[in-house]
Parts: sequence; structure tokens; C-alpha cells
Amino acid sequence: MSELRKLPFQLTNTLTRRKEEFVPAAPPHVGLYVCGPTVYSDVHLGNVRTFTMFDLLYRWLTHIGYKVRYVRNITDVGHLLGDAADGEDRISKGARAEKLEPMEVVQKYTNGFHAVMRQFNNLDPSIEPTATGHLIEQIGMVERILKSGYAYETNGSVYFDVPKFAAEQSYGELSGRKIDELLANTRGTEGQAEKRNPLDFAIWKNAEPEHLMKWPSPWGIGFPGWHLECSVMSTKYLGRTFDIHGGGMDLKFPHHECEIAQSVAADGQQPVRYWMHTNMLTVNGRKMSKSEGNGFTPEELVSGDHKLLERGYGPMTVRFFMLQCHYASTLDFSNEALQAAERGLERLMDALDRLDASKPGDRDDADIPGLEQRCYDAMNDDLNSPVMIAELFEAVRIVNSVHDGKQQLTSVSLERLRRLMRSMVYDVLGILPERATGDVDTVLDGLVQEFIRLRMEAKAKRDFATSDAIRDRLIGLGIQLKDTKDGTTWERV
Ligand code: AMP
Ligand code: ZN
Repeated sequence: MSELRKLPFQLTNTLTRRKEEFVPAAPPHVGLYVCGPTVYSDVHLGNVRTFTMFDLLYRWLTHIGYKVRYVRNITDVGHLLGDAADGEDRISKGARAEKLEPMEVVQKYTNGFHAVMRQFNNLDPSIEPTATGHLIEQIGMVERILKSGYAYETNGSVYFDVPKFAAEQSYGELSGRKIDELLANTRGTEGQAEKRNPLDFAIWKNAEPEHLMKWPSPWGIGFPGWHLECSVMSTKYLGRTFDIHGGGMDLKFPHHECEIAQSVAADGQQPVRYWMHTNMLTVNGRKMSKSEGNGFTPEELVSGDHKLLERGYGPMTVRFFMLQCHYASTLDFSNEALQAAERGLERLMDALDRLDASKPGDRDDADIPGLEQRCYDAMNDDLNSPVMIAELFEAVRIVNSVHDGKQQLTSVSLERLRRLMRSMVYDVLGILPERATGDVDTVLDGLVQEFIRLRMEAKAKRDFATSDAIRDRLIGLGIQLKDTKDGTTWERV
């Protein structure tokens, strides 16, 4: 990698709407915060797309040498239904519907979320804080906002005073909304008696006696507003101004706009240097969402048991399908696109196998360093995974042509191509060979086959000490190799 002309990493900052060179505040450290799921129901594939795109960012930053602290929260309280401040808490609603303790709902869907993240090979964040674990800090932030004069208390609730803030500070920069238009559009609509203005949002909400999740505070028994938790948890772990804050585009307004206002009001600081927003997964052009009823769960996707699915698809096929689209574009779900992704991924994985079996020649018919450079350039250009994958298909073409004897590569170039393809496919794109995601027996067979291959190589080099050691150690693990005229087989003893 050292000989690469490594371009600086460019990222589209949704705050400035420009592609900018990414320079962390304290290199080589990078602070990354991503809004996590609200754990009141199963995640759908749209949610998975967003988390997978941030997984790609995390993997890329790590790959190019940054030390990333990746914080992704779990929203386990305070996500009100709709924007109305008097809506019901989603977790409480889920608990009532399922006749569970709110924390049972939280645990159940947190476990489910983790299983899905593992299934799609998304790496664990460095810290996964919960809103309920940070109530003291949230109360502290409400107090700071009250002190700054940008919030007011009514009947045990505390509201952020949006018109006052907008008159004195910058408001609406991230989402491009103008306060005058917002005020004009909302005037006199809902009868929310407690608020001075319909644009104001709750940062602390008084709990009715029947409300399930509530805590004591200086303003009485209540619960925190949704926007507050992300302001508190991001700055607690990453500092009052940190590098990257991400989430789906639908969170820009009001959630992220409110986060900025809260931080500026409480601490007089812009919280985030680079905002990154990923685009939506759509079905027939409409955003996949629970309320639309057009969302399916990863489980349904794998089993194929859903009216939108012609059949089941493996998690790596779906991951590859997602990575073949740039994060800032919408991605429309279709069976044809998934089947095309499945075929493409198969070609890529076959080429990786073929590359292992390729014999070196004595000249170079392809420019591997050039190919490598183009892969890095694509990813450094705002995480352009579709262009990088197109370069990988160029690599597939080269591998196949070497395999067919039409082109040659020296052993140095073959090794460089192998390293490049492996690191891009496995480390950066996070693709696992599909067979390794199967049951334990398939994984075991894959492992034993690897040892059989190593033993053959040792034998070919007349290194009988190693080949015998492999055979004997496998016996120690209860695995007996048998050499037959058709090759080596194995059985458990
Ligand atoms: P939620 O649990 O609803 O807060 O959503 C978790 C994450 O998934 C957020 O970052 C949302 O922006 C994102 N999200 C929701 N629906 C979609 C979709 N159809 N496509 C992509 N991301 C989505
Ligand atoms: Zn958030």
C-alpha cells in the first residue's frame, strides 16, 4: 500500500452539501456516531441498508489506517410516535401490544438486531450506549439548555424554544429549512396547549400515571425526548465537537436538526464536523417502512416467505446488492436485481478460488498496480463502492484470462492481485464466502478441505514432516483423512 498514490479520502458533507477532503480533528483517531435502531419491532431491510453503508465507512476508514471509535446507540426509550410531542412512546406501545415489560421488548428486539447485524457481517460498534443508561446526562443537558434560555418548562415538561433559538442562532442549515416557512406552515395547526409554538419539541416530557417508562427529574416524573439521547451520547463518548455523524436521510429533519440546536444551545458548540446521510431502500419507488407495510425482515428475505419475494436470497447476496449502489442514491428492491447480484458475486468468488489455483507465468500482461490504484481512488472518492466493484470485475476478467492461458502474470503480480482482491472483498466490502455462513457442518468441511489442500502442497514440495503432522493432528481432533485414487476424503472417528 505504501507505493500507492493514496488520495485523501473525500466525503460528501451533508451540512455543506459538498464533497470535502476528510480531515479528522485528531488524526489518526476518528469519532463516528450513527443513530441506531429503535428497538420496538424487528428491523427491516431498509434499516439494514443504512447500517451496512456505515459498516462500509467504518471498514474503509480502518483500512486506510484510522483508529475509529464507532458509537451506535440503541434507542430504548423516548421515540415518540409521529412528531407530535404528546404521541405515545414506541417502546411503551410495543410493550402494551405484546404484554411484556418495556425492558423485555427492548431486550428481545436488541437481540434480534444483533443477530441481523451478524448475519450481514456488520462489525460491532466500539460502544453501543442505550438511552436509558444515560438519563442523568440527559437531565444535565436539559438543565444546560434551560440555563441558556432556549427552553421553557410547562406542566412538568420542558420544550425547546425553536423560534427564539432561530432568531438568535443559525437554525435549519442541515436540512435547508427556513424558519419563516416552517412557522408559516405550522401556524395554528395542532392544539398542543403546552407548547408556545408547534415547532417547539419536547426535551423532557411529563409522564401520565399510566405511562410505563418514567423517571424522576427536577421537573417531576417523566421521560426524555428522542432527539436528546443522541446529542448526549455522541458528545459524551466522542467530545463536544466530533468528526462524523451519520444516519438515514429521513433523520435529517427534525432529528438531526434538533441535535444541532440542542448542542449549540447547551454548550455553544456545533457538535459535528461532517454529517453523512445515506439514501433509502425503496420498493417500487416507495420508501420501505414498517408503516407502509412494504418492509420485509431479513428472515423473510432468506426464507423467501413474503409476497414480494420470488425465492430466498443469502445474506451475502443482499449485502453485495446493497454495496453495488452508492450510499447517496436510492436503491430500489427487485428480484431481478438480487438475482443479478447473486450471479455477480458467484463470479467474483469463483475468481478468488481460481486465483489460488493459478500458475505464475514469466511476463505481466495486465497492469495490477494500476488496477489497485483505481480501487483505492474509487473508495476514497466518497466511498464509491459501485465503481470499486466494477474494478473487481475487471480483476475477474484478468483472473479468468490467466486461468484460460490467454494472459500471464508473474508470481509477484499474482500475489499482489490476490492480496488486493482478498482485502477488497473480505475486509472492505465485508463479504463472507456464503458457504462459511451456513451450518457448522459446512463450515467444518470447508476447514478440513483447507487442511487437505495445505497437506497436498506440503507433499508436492516433498515436505513430508508437515504433511504427516497435518494428518496426525487432524486425527487428534477426531478427523481421519483417507487418500484414494480420486483424492483425499475425510470422516469423523
Ligand atoms: P429507526 O429504527 O426507524 O430509527 O431506523 C433506523 C435507521 O434506519 C435510521 O437511520 C433510518 O434512517 C434508517 N431507515 C429507515 N427506513 C429506511 C429505508 N427504507 N432505507 C434505508 N434506511 C432506512
Ligand atoms: Zn439519533
